[in-house]
Amino acid sequence: MTAESARLKLHRMGWWLAPPRCPLCGRPVLPRQLCADCAPLLKRLELGQRPSPPEGVDRLYCGWRYRDPVQAAILRMKFGHRPALGENLVLALFSRQDFYTFAAEFDIIIPIPSTAKERRGRGYDVPRLLGRGIWAACGLPLAPADTLQKIRETRRQVDLDGEQRRANLRGAYGVQRAQLVEGKAVLLVDDVTTTGSTLTEAARALRQAGARYVGAVTLATA
Ligand SMILES: [Zn+2]
Repeated sequence: MTAESARLKLHRMGWWLAPPRCPLCGRPVLPRQLCADCAPLLKRLELGQRPSPPEGVDRLYCGWRYRDPVQAAILRMKFGHRPALGENLVLALFSRQDFYTFAAEFDIIIPIPSTAKERRGRGYDVPRLLGRGIWAACGLPLAPADTLQKIRETRRQVDLDGEQRRANLRGAYGVQRAQLVEGKAVLLVDDVTTTGSTLTEAARALRQAGARYVGAVTLATA
């Protein structure tokens, strides 16, 4: 058996063991595709729906509104141990020419740091998983995990209003490896943005460390 036919055989076996499924609803589909029901639901944000960047952030790209089916997919990714959903949503972003153009403006990817508690609960770090997906799709370097760090504990953001969220996060982030961000255009990555205060505070820390330009991408916006 040649290497090629062995690979083909393995590929077929893999298909049989784990047939490709729609990343959003789990129905069997052709590889790397959404099913016929989910594809039309995954509508991109139209002009006018796109949120303006929060304070301190130069540019913001949000893939979708935080509504089903995207909301359900993000919740399953975070709480249902389905990291592949995140990778699929990042791939869906890269099917858009304007996202390629946006990503090309940056020098380095820095995911919003998640807390040790969040990582323990999920078994993986969601923003980092998304950052790795962007690196894999376009080759933009991904900064080491300790580049941007949460330097003090904060309260859960969901229980707070806009003003409280900003106060809660002020000074929460610090940059550990300033040489990686100095003079650079930095792309922050997170799963969802609501008031934007997380992005604002992370951007503040990056600018203090010398970043020249700070943008952010999130899968969804509330
Ligand atoms: Zn589907």
